[in-house]
Amino acid sequence: MESLIIKSPKADISESSIQQMDGIIAAMRANQPAVAQTTARERIVKLKRLKKAVFDNRTRIHDALYADYKKPAPEVDLTEIFVVTSELKHTIRNLKKWMKPHRVKPTLALLSTRSRLHYEPRGVVLIISPWNFPFNLTFGPLVSAVAAGNCMVIKPSEFTPHTSAIMKEILAGIFPEDEVCMIEGGPEVSSELIKKPFDHIFFTGSTHVGKIVMKAAAENLTSVTLELGGKSPVIVDETAHLDDAAKKVAWGKYVNKGQACISPDYLLVHESKYEPFMEKLKTNIQQYYGETEADRQKSHHLSRIVSSKHQVRLAKMIYDTVEGGAEIEIGGVSKEDENYISPTVLSGISMDSPVMQEEIFGPILPVIKYRTLDEVLPILSEREKPLALYIFSGSRKNIDFILSNTTAGGTCINEVMLQFMHNNLPFGGVNNSGHGSSHGYFGFKTFSHERAVLKHHRFSPLKLMYPPYTKTVQKLIDLTLKYL
Ligand code: NAD
Repeated sequence: MESLIIKSPKADISESSIQQMDGIIAAMRANQPAVAQTTARERIVKLKRLKKAVFDNRTRIHDALYADYKKPAPEVDLTEIFVVTSELKHTIRNLKKWMKPHRVKPTLALLSTRSRLHYEPRGVVLIISPWNFPFNLTFGPLVSAVAAGNCMVIKPSEFTPHTSAIMKEILAGIFPEDEVCMIEGGPEVSSELIKKPFDHIFFTGSTHVGKIVMKAAAENLTSVTLELGGKSPVIVDETAHLDDAAKKVAWGKYVNKGQACISPDYLLVHESKYEPFMEKLKTNIQQYYGETEADRQKSHHLSRIVSSKHQVRLAKMIYDTVEGGAEIEIGGVSKEDENYISPTVLSGISMDSPVMQEEIFGPILPVIKYRTLDEVLPILSEREKPLALYIFSGSRKNIDFILSNTTAGGTCINEVMLQFMHNNLPFGGVNNSGHGSSHGYFGFKTFSHERAVLKHHRFSPLKLMYPPYTKTVQKLIDLTLKYL
């Protein structure tokens, strides 16, 4: 079957493209029962071939991401390739165990039964991925979906075509098109795909589009996993180790040019540590990316903003925030012809400024002073539940206070971003920042249906309570209610 490629069409997609899409999905439906029957060993063979292909194509993946948004090769290694290969290794090591039916203990009332949980694939699934970390956020969920025995359509972002091309080539070399098929294109293609009766949709992207996906999925009662975004705060309290905090925040904020769903979005720093922390933050930015703004513009260690649309959005965000009274501590420069925004730190932030209203998703860091943690809580609770919340503190009391008075998809203490890299932690948001989780066993479960299987024998004591409901039966029911 010819593969379908619709590259960012401006208008609605044609009838023949929709028919092609339907043909691919129908072929997958026909193939799905066979894929579902595959053993752990057979799935591991596929995952090993995928791992080999990723390593074999490492340089080409570097080149593709450089072509898409000048992402530096070491950053590609760490935040794209390593994330996928470690997911692959972890899954290959554990899949046999994960796939085994899990025995569950009987409850007192059902003591005579035996029960298990069977993991069966969801079926034919759709994975829609974004442009930031385009390799990791496409192949990551794909690993879990393959491990769980699904067939899948993959729709990557239209903003990173070079990465899509290499991913498509790798997939075509391993999977037949009726098992895994990449369909390229923009919202027009996505909008058509989400109308189809998939067995599950795994969407990574903005909260706005997440709502569109969920609405469309509701028409078919298709289950969804939504990996969305939001404003992830960082709290640096009076007991924090400032050198450590400044190094980690400066790395976490500007890696991938701040275009990460779990980037530190805004900083809340205790007033007693504000000045020294700011100094250290700026020093680290200079050490990582260059002493002067001119050096930083030439730095090979900074990627670019993915598109001029986002470049303009970020430049306007800086302009409007400064117009509203904020000060630029470092950076603040926008070069539209190069999709460059300098690593920027802003101070004197008012809570209604643009940087505090929407997810920044770029290299701009507003820093806010606070006096007490009680003052911090409303700043957090007035905003949507974040995907991540970071705490830098040496005080157990403060850490416990923040954990028990806030909520977030995940939290790092004295660290940023690493919750994403941990294969044994579920990754996901809460409400506005997402539904469901991915990674490792949690990703495998996301792409599986947990089927409850209960077995009983002929001599069931429960039969004593079948009709007719005589007085004796009623007595037995009463005893059951009372004691079991
Ligand atoms: P986006 O929502 O614009 O696009 C994501 C995908 O949805 C793309 O493939 C796009 O083609 C498709 N799409 C766009 N409009 C659509 C529509 N109307 N109907 C159906 N599909 C549509 O997101 P983006 O700009 O690519 O990525 C940035 C966002 O993603 C940020 O908000 C970020 O926080 C979030 N994100 C979340 C995670 C996570 O794991 N939670 C990871 C990365 C990015």
